[in-house]
Amino acid sequence: MWPCVVSSFSRRLVASLGVCGRRKCCGTAAFMPEAPAFEGVRSRSELRDFSVSDSERFWAAVGNQRLSWISPFHTVQDCDLTQGRIKWFEGGKLNVSVNCLDRHVHTSPDRVALIWERDEQGSEVKYTYRELLEMTCRLGNVLRRRGVKRGDCVTIYMPTCPLAVAAMLACARIGAAHNVVFAGFSADALAERIRDAESNTVITVNQGVRGGKFTELKKTVDEAVQSCPSVQQVLVAMRTDTPVVMTARDVAMEEDVVCEPAVMNSEDVLFLLYTSGSTGKPKGIVHTQAGYLLYAALTHRYVFSYHDGDVFGCVADIGWITGHSYTVYGPLANGGTTVLFESTPIYPDPGRYWNTVERLKINQFYGAPTAIRLLLKYGDHWVTKYDRSTLKTLGSVGEPINTEAWEWYHRVVGDGRCPVVDTWWQTETGGICIAPRPSEPDAEIVPGMAMRPFFGIKPVLMDTEGKVLTSNNTSGALCMAQPWPGMARTIRNNHQRFIETYYQPYPGYFFTGDGAYRSAQGYYQITGRLDDVINVSGHRIGTAEIEDNQCSAVAESAVIGFSHDIKGEGVYAFVVLKKNIDIKEDDLSRQLNKMVSKKIAKYACPDLANRLPKTRSGKIMRRVLRKVVERDLDGLGDLSTLDDPTLDVMILEQTGSHHKSLSDSINPLV
Ligand code: AMP
Repeated sequence: MWPCVVSSFSRRLVASLGVCGRRKCCGTAAFMPEAPAFEGVRSRSELRDFSVSDSERFWAAVGNQRLSWISPFHTVQDCDLTQGRIKWFEGGKLNVSVNCLDRHVHTSPDRVALIWERDEQGSEVKYTYRELLEMTCRLGNVLRRRGVKRGDCVTIYMPTCPLAVAAMLACARIGAAHNVVFAGFSADALAERIRDAESNTVITVNQGVRGGKFTELKKTVDEAVQSCPSVQQVLVAMRTDTPVVMTARDVAMEEDVVCEPAVMNSEDVLFLLYTSGSTGKPKGIVHTQAGYLLYAALTHRYVFSYHDGDVFGCVADIGWITGHSYTVYGPLANGGTTVLFESTPIYPDPGRYWNTVERLKINQFYGAPTAIRLLLKYGDHWVTKYDRSTLKTLGSVGEPINTEAWEWYHRVVGDGRCPVVDTWWQTETGGICIAPRPSEPDAEIVPGMAMRPFFGIKPVLMDTEGKVLTSNNTSGALCMAQPWPGMARTIRNNHQRFIETYYQPYPGYFFTGDGAYRSAQGYYQITGRLDDVINVSGHRIGTAEIEDNQCSAVAESAVIGFSHDIKGEGVYAFVVLKKNIDIKEDDLSRQLNKMVSKKIAKYACPDLANRLPKTRSGKIMRRVLRKVVERDLDGLGDLSTLDDPTLDVMILEQTGSHHKSLSDSINPLV
């Protein structure tokens, strides 16, 4: 390929001479085959500008080129951000599983689609496109035979494994939506999601295996479905040899290798994925077929510079959006080879990721800052003992990556030769929106910054009055001024909440809920949530969700996030005990953790719990809370209005002992 960098002088020269600028044209065409049809586009940055200024033509060309349609679309987009109306590729009919499987089976049936990196190190299993298609069809037929119809929603409660991917694609094949629930969620949280999705079918496994530990997933499903009258059947696959009790509702997985794909409209629902908001119950974010798939595929191809034959290693669980878009849909739509990572970064030892990179010859590695921060502490030798020469791109997602972690990832893991792409996006955006790449191949990458908007993405920063901030070197609320195909369409059962959350705060714009800084050079850096959402190890949790669940000793609580050196943010709970309750701090912490694990999941458990400082008139002393968390002894100010005189001693102790408690509470959840 021709080198793509030319100076602005030579670009001007080419333009003024009116010649095609062959070096540039050819480079851009090789970079993106659709580009030659876009007038005036001769470089990657011009391509990006075109994707925003003429977004309809850009997405029409890309949509036609990169998806297989049963019938073509007639309208590229029908979006109105003031109304929260998002529609892409209407009139088009397609099947997502055909796009992810059949079309690759036609051209290269024996190409590896999945490499299942099982929890047991060194026991990976490969599945070709043909095998994955067969598995998907078998499962699709089982679902159809058992009455699952187009438009139904199937809940999948499984660890990251080939059958889980086949289950997602089987739903897509027969036109059912899927609702993957992270297998770390508790029975109560699972039940809440099943009920809201109105699923009549759940797919699970007998047991999960992670970090050498077994989890009783089928038992959790048994408990959850007690309060889910909609559930008629539970399909149970065997991950281990341990038999489980089967009830009349349960069906052992069986197998019929042709499954006719349903003809789906572009805007039919592909899946729901629940995520936390600042208030109320988790939101079932709805993604639809064509736009989501196209966006996942395009971002996977260009942000990571994924090429045919590469092995893509995204280590996220399929229970999160990253697992959906970059373990399953993006790589498979591109006919890629994708790794399903079932284990943890430190099992059996802290070299697990890099052992996997060496063994599976991973070319793009995509992980979370929380894991990088954790591994950094174990030392370089766990990395350097493995061959990482296959690595070409390193990705980071889920939370801001601090400079120290970024540098270590770049210098030690990538030997200083792989671009590190800090990718900003969220469940609602469907795919990556801001990342250092694609850009000119040698364009600078600033550590810890997501930097550049992707094709078709137009970020804006808003001030507190809701006005667009036009200058650089400024911070504001991050919004998107233009729709793109991957964006969420609604919240299941609550379109009003969708509008209120994302479209009313800044009319005419999609509001991300995040704050961002735009540097003097125009690069974006995400500064964190602007709402009451905590990001624990890259997983979102609403403070209200934790506060809503009271344990027997507690009358009232307030939960805040605090800076945690491994998890990014930890959960700090302040509680008011019920009258006449006398309980030791350790016991209180234990009770709170038990309750939160039961109601939500282990990752949401408070790292620290303390009694809530209130004034005698009953007001929460927030300034004290802030100072406690910031460990600012001098800033505590006047504590004489505290209702409980013993609290001031405790608060003072807390500010001093904070650091120790943090390192004691390291509990990586990635
Ligand atoms: P989720 O939808 O659960 O994936 O969470 C999305 C949220 O995670 C975003 O709104 C951000 O607050 C945060 N986030 C994701 N990626 C990044 C990143 N690269 N830098 C900073 N924050 C991020």
